[in-house]
This record gives sequence, structure tokens and C-alpha cells, in this order.
Amino acid sequence: MSTVDGLPPLRAVIEAHGLVAKKSLGQNFLLDLNLTSRIARQAGDLSKCDVLEVGPGPGGLTRGLLAEGARKVLAVEKDSRAMAALADIQAIYPERLDILNADALEIDPLETLTPPVRVVANLPYNVGTELLVRWLTPPAWPPYWASLTLMFQREVAERIVAQPGSKKYGRLAILSQWRTNARIVMELPPEAFSPPPKVHSAVVHFEALPAPRFEADPKVLERIVATGFNQRRKMLRASLKGAATDIEDRLIAAGIKPTDRAEQVPIEGWCALAREVAKG
Ligand code: SAM
Repeated sequence: MSTVDGLPPLRAVIEAHGLVAKKSLGQNFLLDLNLTSRIARQAGDLSKCDVLEVGPGPGGLTRGLLAEGARKVLAVEKDSRAMAALADIQAIYPERLDILNADALEIDPLETLTPPVRVVANLPYNVGTELLVRWLTPPAWPPYWASLTLMFQREVAERIVAQPGSKKYGRLAILSQWRTNARIVMELPPEAFSPPPKVHSAVVHFEALPAPRFEADPKVLERIVATGFNQRRKMLRASLKGAATDIEDRLIAAGIKPTDRAEQVPIEGWCALAREVAKG
């Protein structure tokens, strides 16, 4: 079977390089190059951007990103067994693909990439949320990346885009929606992967906003949101008791009913409360 880039189909690549999926590395590979190109297109126009890809594995999404015209791709993969397969892709795109055999949690992408950067990844589920939280909490805003296009378990994707009043609304929704436009752009059934995971997956696209939606100190906001949702069934006057002195007065000053629960408060309310708490 011929492919757009002339490389062998992914099933043959996996077989040739003995890439038996390892559970410990969260390996569920995409085998359909039409699908990986579709995911790459969700990231927007790649021709004027460098792309950071985390966890390329046998390179299905990497090939999609390159075929869709990415200016340059830095593919960071922890599993050294995948290096030979990735080197075959690099031979076709020598100027546009850099491969790094490293843990994505430990690298500085800006040593290789030039902004604007788009991050695109079929994330290993075991490190996906940790990477997302890091990307969403950089030392300064706007971050180095312009967008994130990331595959998650569908349940995590739904938490990211959840609205106030929903059981899924919490820290991840507030962290995501405070400083980005986040939306689910694709849903994938388990059969899209090899081996199939137990759960459905979804791709979320985040566009970084130039500035946060509402003013707040990120550290204070992080802290009160984490504290508030830690006991999400309690009223805020109880769950936030330890977060600041006179919490009831501060809630009222922020326009929040002290008897409300964390999931009822919109992002604007959490930011207003963070400003009240930051007054000291
Ligand atoms: N992108 C490929 C695809 O779509 O078929 C593979 C996706 S698989 C869900 C996740 C990949 O991330 C695996 O190749 C795994 O080895 C890699 N990985 C896991 N932890 C990693 C880490 N900390 N840093 C970089 N890569 C990692």
C-alpha cells in the first residue's frame, strides 16, 4: 500500500521495528495516516509555525504534521526503541524534523524551536495532565506556545471544557478556560488505536489568549481553586475556611454567596475572590 510520504504503512513500521506497545509508557498507537493528518489539521496553519510533538512513538502523527506542512517539528520521545522508525521519517524530511530521545517533562523546547510554536500530541495518558498543567501555568503569560492540540481520555477532555454547575467543572476547567479558548475538536473510539485503550478519547484544541480573561494572581487563584474543589460538596464558607481570614466577608465582597458550592462559581467569581484574598 502506498502512503503520501512514500514511507511504509504504520502497521509495517511497528512490526519492522518490534514496537510492541508498553503499558508503562502509555503506548496506544494511531495506525491510520488519514486520521493523523486530520488531527494535525486541527492545530491550524502549521506552515508558519514550529511544532512540539510529545511522544511520537512510531511517528503516525509526526508524519501527519509534516505532510500538513509544519515548518519544523521537534518530536520528543522517551522510548529509545522508536528512534530507528523516527530516523526513517527524518531521512524524508531532513530539514524539518528534529528528534529528541528524552523525557518531555525534562526538556526546554525553546532550545530547538522558534516561536510561534504549536504543541500537538497524542499524549501518554499517564503524563498528559501533568504536561497540560505545566503548559497552562508558565512563569509569565502569554506562554511560548500559541496553541495546544492534545489527545486525552474523553473524560479528561470533558473536564477541561466543563461549565459551572456541572459535576465535571473544577480545577482543570478553570485553569484551562481562564487563559485559553479550549474546545473539543474530535472524538475517537478505542478502535482507532492499537492496542485499543479501555476508554474513548478526544482531541482538545487550546488557543492561548493574549491576556487572562479576568485579572488575578495565578498562584492565589490556583490555591483557592484547589482548596475550594478539594471539598466540592461543602459550602464555600466551610471549604475555604483555611484559605484566608474573614473568608465569608471576602466571598461577599467578590460577589459570591458563602453558601454556594465550588462548582457553582464561574471563573470570573474565582478571579474576583483571588483579588480579595490577595489584599492580605
Ligand atoms: N504519537 C503516537 C501515536 O499517535 O501513535 C504515540 C502515542 S502514545 C499514546 C504516547 C507516546 O508517548 C508513546 O510513544 C510513549 O513512549 C511516549 N511517552 C510516554 N511518556 C513520555 C515522556 N515522559 N516523554 C516523552 N514521550 C513519552
